[in-house]
Amino acid sequence: MKEKVRIRHAAAMHLRGIKELHKVSPKFFPLLTLQCIFCAVLPYMAVFFSAQILKELADLRREDILWNWAAAGVLCMGAASILKAVLQRRCHTLRYDLWDRKEMLFVRKMFALDFSELEKQENYDLRAQICQNENWGGWGLMRVQKIYESFVTSVIGILSGIALTVSLFTSSVPETAGWLVILNHPIFLLMSAMLMAAVSIAAGKFSAASQKYWSDYAEEATLGNRLFGHFGFIGLNKERNIDIRMYHQQNLVSAYWSANSVFGADSPIGKMARGKIGIYASMGVCITALMTGFIYVFTCLKAWGGAFGAGSITQYAGAATAMVSNVFALTGFMGVLETNTGYLKKTFEFLDLPNAMCQGSLTLEKRSDCQYEIEFRDVSFRYPGSDIWALRHVNIKFKADSRLAIVGENGSGKTTFIKLLCRLYDPQEGQILLNGIDIRKYRYDDYRNIFSVVFQDFQLICQPLGANVAGSMDYDPDRVHKALIDAGFGDRLASMEKGLDTMLYKNLSEDGIEVSGGEAQKIAIARALYKDAPFMILDEPTAALDPIAEAEIYSKFNEIAGDRTAIYISHRLSSCKFCDEIAVFHESRIVQMGSHNELLSDKVGKYHELWTAQAQYYTEQNPCP
Ligand code: ADP
Repeated sequence: MKEKVRIRHAAAMHLRGIKELHKVSPKFFPLLTLQCIFCAVLPYMAVFFSAQILKELADLRREDILWNWAAAGVLCMGAASILKAVLQRRCHTLRYDLWDRKEMLFVRKMFALDFSELEKQENYDLRAQICQNENWGGWGLMRVQKIYESFVTSVIGILSGIALTVSLFTSSVPETAGWLVILNHPIFLLMSAMLMAAVSIAAGKFSAASQKYWSDYAEEATLGNRLFGHFGFIGLNKERNIDIRMYHQQNLVSAYWSANSVFGADSPIGKMARGKIGIYASMGVCITALMTGFIYVFTCLKAWGGAFGAGSITQYAGAATAMVSNVFALTGFMGVLETNTGYLKKTFEFLDLPNAMCQGSLTLEKRSDCQYEIEFRDVSFRYPGSDIWALRHVNIKFKADSRLAIVGENGSGKTTFIKLLCRLYDPQEGQILLNGIDIRKYRYDDYRNIFSVVFQDFQLICQPLGANVAGSMDYDPDRVHKALIDAGFGDRLASMEKGLDTMLYKNLSEDGIEVSGGEAQKIAIARALYKDAPFMILDEPTAALDPIAEAEIYSKFNEIAGDRTAIYISHRLSSCKFCDEIAVFHESRIVQMGSHNELLSDKVGKYHELWTAQAQYYTEQNPCP
């Protein structure tokens, strides 16, 4: 009963797998089914036609019929072989394509996940484990199509085999054949059929057992793949290369890697492959060979007794041998099916990760008058899995068209404040309101559209400059130009031969250009400008800029922001002087609010403390800002 439930569960999981793959590649399974039919039937066609020709040659000797069989055999086998080859080729290509498309399922899921879910380490681990299972033994979603292929091929093979061998059992040895008449006895026939079934099942079980041992080592293999993924490609990481050379890290890497070799010949996996896996796999093959021998003996004895002619021996022996190997494949496949169910469980666990964030329904049009008012009302927030409040009882209100600066020491909660504002997370306590309405009530995409943010760890992609700025291949070049010039990238752009078509980075194109940290930041600022959102947020965007470039950006900041609301996070207080209002963060709270002069006049306040510390630094060691 338990077995039945397990198989039903495994079948349901694999059916879902087929559905998921069929969704991304609708042509694949119909073509694969056709290919399976041809692959399964072709060996029996060969057996059937050779048997007919042999019958004519050995027994009946009718010349015209012999020619007919030969012509029919050549035509049918030729056509079927050509079709099989075409289908195999097509399926092969579609299988590669399916690999990419299947990856898109995961990529789309990653993009659709709540940001807070995406950041959870366990979800990253789950995704990494799915990748490793696939790379390690081909387990998971891609194994589903292999299982389908072997299932359809074996079932059709068995049916074809039965069609060609029924008469082996029904044809009787004549009564004159002496002791060989025992072959006609129903008990003998029943025992032979049972023996064939038992041996096929046992052979399948051995094959399944050898598969199971592979999956038993999935954990070790996962670790092996992780080590390989990390250490095997460490030399490709440009940022690491300097440290590797300066501190001889290659010695550390190779020592650690050889000490932890998971796939080595003397590793547990290597020993097991030589030992149990090899024994079980070869026992399966031995039993099948014995079974084939039994069928040959049975067929030859019947022919010897006069049940049929020599021509039929080819048909029965060939068909029965092919059928045994199909039964062997089908029973072995049950083991693979069960093993893969465990891996599929992980896959669907990831694909079914729920989104907990409330999806609002209120639409939010971009207003031409930019009249938006944001309010944080007693907001507190802890990162998932953390006990520490990253923000505590934050209250702040800011209007459209204003300039708000956020300052504070590292770790005081500035970036977290921006992440909540952009609704990458929802607060555990309090509310964030846009024009008096809780932001959770707005449609998420609409809400996100009103923000342009340049985070400290922004990312550009290996695509042309213009597409990077516009976030699309389709863009208005004049606007992109203007955004780049406003962000201070004008001179560099003028020196680029291919202008906006210049590829960034060399990963995908030899003509690509490498940009410095400061230049990349300017491009990221241009991207935020191009989006033309009512709120523009710069989260310490000038960290990699030299003081002159920084001064340039700051002096243009007011102009750049225009009638947008600008929120500006900086660790350099001097750059916030022009802001209408400055919020001072300290230990997850807003401890002061006001203009630069107001805050500075409070001699015991945090702002004054930070200002004096920085002013001292600039006057004593560095004459810049
Ligand atoms: P700031 O921008 O002022 O430097 P952050 O807002 O980045 O500070 O961080 C505020 C607090 O939240 C810090 O204690 C930091 O360690 C913690 N924190 C930041 N990001 C995460 C995260 N993804 N998961 C857990 N804690 C985080």
